[in-house]
Amino acid sequence: MKKLKMEKLILAKEAVFPVTKDRNGQLLDDRPKTGLQIPGTIQGEGKLAGVPSLFIRFSGCNLRCIWQMEDGTYSRCDTRYASFQPNETIELEVDKVVDWVRYNIGNTRHVVITGGEPLLQRRALADLCRKLKEQLNVHITIESNGSMFDNEVATWVDLFSISPKLSNSVPSPEKLAVFGLKENIVFKKHKQTRYNIEALQAYVNLANSSDKELQLKFVVGRKDDYKEILTDFVSQLNDCKASDILLMPLGATKVEISRSSPMVLDMAIANGWRFSPRVHIELFGSKSGV
Ligand code: SF4
Repeated sequence: MKKLKMEKLILAKEAVFPVTKDRNGQLLDDRPKTGLQIPGTIQGEGKLAGVPSLFIRFSGCNLRCIWQMEDGTYSRCDTRYASFQPNETIELEVDKVVDWVRYNIGNTRHVVITGGEPLLQRRALADLCRKLKEQLNVHITIESNGSMFDNEVATWVDLFSISPKLSNSVPSPEKLAVFGLKENIVFKKHKQTRYNIEALQAYVNLANSSDKELQLKFVVGRKDDYKEILTDFVSQLNDCKASDILLMPLGATKVEISRSSPMVLDMAIANGWRFSPRVHIELFGSKSGV
């Protein structure tokens, strides 16, 4: 009989986090980076901000976001080790990852799959989501940039946390020069890849016709960003609910976030959209693995 091929996942350096047990179920010597004695953290953003959660971070992304803030300064993707430079990766079979979650899940009922862009590994991702649901019966959130949709993955997900990227995220040659980066094919492709209205409509349709939840979480750094959200997203999508649109202040640090928050708050209230905090940065700063 032919042996079934095991799906493998390529995960970023923190892989499953925050944890107190390693992938074999052995107690780790060090505390998790949260500084707590227990595994797990809270979801820091969106509709489920504050909810106890365990995270799985995928490696690799099809985008390369660099934003310009209102004051002219620049902000890059805050998980560059999972997007721009995915070099410290961990390759694991799906079953191993499910076990790793099992060893650390405790009373936490929410698992958040993030990246990078998890849907780049859609076959293994679908397998992971199915096994997490069937074996651990956890609530699953997928955090994605919304440039792709996959029916099989969607079957197992409870909350689609989609963060479509505005034109301000395009890594122009001028922005790249600021960070000493050279333009390559992935940087060039960002402009076209970031916007996939058919994929976004598929998420909206599924959320409207099932008990699945959706949030369209826009990272906002400029005062005119709401115009693009209205023209390129709200008016292009059928039946997109205002209550599913969230604005999140741009920034990878407390200082950057406090600079953009008042403008984003104003924009959210004026348009009847939600404001998303970034609680984990408030609590833990800009370190990874929390
Ligand atoms: S889509 Fe997300 S992970 Fe990818 S480069 Fe942009 S901010 Fe980073």
